[in-house]
Amino acid sequence: MKIASIVGNRPQFIKSAPTSIALREHGLDEVVIHTGQHYDHELSQVFFEELGLPEPRYRLDLRTADPQVMQPPIEACLREERPDWVLVYGDTNSTLAGALAATALDLPLAHVEAGLRSGDLSMPEERNRIETDKLAAVLLCPDERSRETLAAEGVSGHAEVVGDVMADACFRLTPIALQRAQTLDALGLKPDRYLLLTLHREANTRQPRLGRIVEGVNRLEEPVLFPVHPRTRAALDLEGLELGTRVLTLPPVGYLELTALAAQARVILTDSGGLQKEAYWHGVPCVTLRPSTEWVDTVETGANTLVDDDPERLAEAVATARMPGERPQLYGDGHAAEKIAQTLVRLRRA
Ligand code: UDP
Repeated sequence: MKIASIVGNRPQFIKSAPTSIALREHGLDEVVIHTGQHYDHELSQVFFEELGLPEPRYRLDLRTADPQVMQPPIEACLREERPDWVLVYGDTNSTLAGALAATALDLPLAHVEAGLRSGDLSMPEERNRIETDKLAAVLLCPDERSRETLAAEGVSGHAEVVGDVMADACFRLTPIALQRAQTLDALGLKPDRYLLLTLHREANTRQPRLGRIVEGVNRLEEPVLFPVHPRTRAALDLEGLELGTRVLTLPPVGYLELTALAAQARVILTDSGGLQKEAYWHGVPCVTLRPSTEWVDTVETGANTLVDDDPERLAEAVATARMPGERPQLYGDGHAAEKIAQTLVRLRRA
């Protein structure tokens, strides 16, 4: 049985790492198609190297985020391979382009991270999720809430709760990351004595939001470690925004380094989807620089606070951030990838 996995950017490389291992362990043949949506070394190749991802059979190097541009070259690869399943991950434009290409060729589509909703249709990710879920034959949900969401929407594919593949990666790789990491020592920082910031969503790299977030970050009284995404770097330079002296900027770092920095931070500030969950799994409180989130349970448990772009709320939330006393297991037990492989085998044979 052949699976074509479509990846294109950082979170998808991370999601595909445990999945690739599980597919291999189930004797499935995986062909990886890399759209090239992210092509900078720090956002792409480093993940292939450190996560031991299979070399993509197709490197499209498209250097675009436009699904209309990505779809025809993906279709050409799928036509060549005729896989039994096309596997897409998450909510990016590469996800949607892969879903459209599979649908155009009438190939069965499976969506990893199905059924997530933030309720904010102004986010391109939310529109990608909804559209991809409508096209998928199999919806691989991280939790019961997402399965119920799909049922309420009347989505036609078969939905199954498998857990979250990012938990698989996080649980498996955090001990290795902590052993190998060097950044804290190099910077003279101590665990639990710094904040970690990541910021890259398109809406947050535009004004006035970017300036308001920078204003809030500059009010913080602890060291802030900030691996800066290239898009954010360009926006800060363009807008002439200055970060305060407590903010230590780094180029984007690989997954293992980021995992070590996240696991040892006192608080994580982020607009990333993935990092909100990782913060929870690491037992680190999170302050999310967005008005809404698709990872609703992290907020409902009290581990994650949404502050949007409000400098006042940002500073207040960081000062008071604590993990809740009760921490229910969220998004699976770290064995989602195995369940995905089993589901694909079972449903293909059914
Ligand atoms: N990440 C990383 N290096 C960084 C910043 C983030 O490896 O410099 C990881 C992070 O741990 C998480 C993933 O990238 O696993 C999240 O990706 P991103 O924030 O780009 O996208 P999102 O999750 O918002 O889709």
